Amino acid sequence: MTRSIIPHRVGTDNTSRIPTPNLPPPYTWTGARPGQLRANTSDFTATSTLLIGPKLTPFHIHTSLLTSQSSYFRAALHGAFLESTHNSITLDDISVEHFQLLSSWLYTSVLPTPFKDGKPAYYTLLHVYGLADRLGLEGARNAVIDVISELADRTNSVLTPSDTRILYSNIREKTPLRALVLDLFAFKKTDRLLETHADWWHAAFLRDLTVHLKRPCTQAMDRHRLRMWCPDSWHATRACDHCRALLPPRYGAVACEDCCVAFCTRCVDDGVAMAGWDDSRGRFEMVDGLADTEAGAVGEDRGRQLRKWEACKPWRGARCRLYHEHAETEKCEDVFLGR
Ligand SMILES: [Zn+2]
Ligand SMILES: [Zn+2]
Ligand SMILES: [Zn+2]
Repeated sequence: MTRSIIPHRVGTDNTSRIPTPNLPPPYTWTGARPGQLRANTSDFTATSTLLIGPKLTPFHIHTSLLTSQSSYFRAALHGAFLESTHNSITLDDISVEHFQLLSSWLYTSVLPTPFKDGKPAYYTLLHVYGLADRLGLEGARNAVIDVISELADRTNSVLTPSDTRILYSNIREKTPLRALVLDLFAFKKTDRLLETHADWWHAAFLRDLTVHLKRPCTQAMDRHRLRMWCPDSWHATRACDHCRALLPPRYGAVACEDCCVAFCTRCVDDGVAMAGWDDSRGRFEMVDGLADTEAGAVGEDRGRQLRKWEACKPWRGARCRLYHEHAETEKCEDVFLGR
């Protein structure tokens, strides 16, 4: 028998799992209140059997977890479907490996970060997103958004050309995941990668990215932590990062607290700016070890450990607003950067 789904051999390496301390919990909210799950003792006794993959691998999962998290299982296990009579569902066309990741998320609220040969396995995450979409697991889709965002930051990587083909062929068009991927390419320095990669990028991805880079977009403003700012002299003034108008002393303007960009109030009211990866204004930050330079760290080129101040990114401060869905799950706490 021929099956179209071929399980990928990807190690889910718990030792290299990326922790999430850079975002205060609970950034990903599963929608399940712990109190709710413990309220009813039948939550612990009732399980459903899911037969997954071509070999019908059985997964015995607490029914309350499935129905509290997934509109699909809610309908299948509570509704008039045939499956609800014997609490068993067969899903022979999905990958066991991908379902294992979703099961892990169901029980722990943490989606393991998949690696292959030490590199981030974005393709696995894309497949898991598509599966979570099919099974109505909104919280799991948001968890994939979080893992991809943090993976892209920690490993300074983006999707490969074949990943863009998965994104544009296998995943529903109107998903915030596409917006995230386009922003990763627009707000990270990816020009050389796009130019020189030997493999072919998906044509529609390149089209969308080109349009994205040519038009103002709200996330270019949303990524900043803006506050009112008034240059006190001509010496301290700057130009609006969007329209380039000079921001004169004693007139109200807006500046980001994290990077150095400033905007005129008209551009902030419009809520638009252009996507760009290098818009911080030449500030530098020191990284660990620089203080040892004068102390005679011979041979170690510690002087190089000056790094350009990093520009704000939309998938950090504005992640929930831009890329999460909260039709069924509760919104994330507004704890990150006060948003
Ligand atoms: Zn900023
Ligand atoms: Zn302006
Ligand atoms: Zn959210």
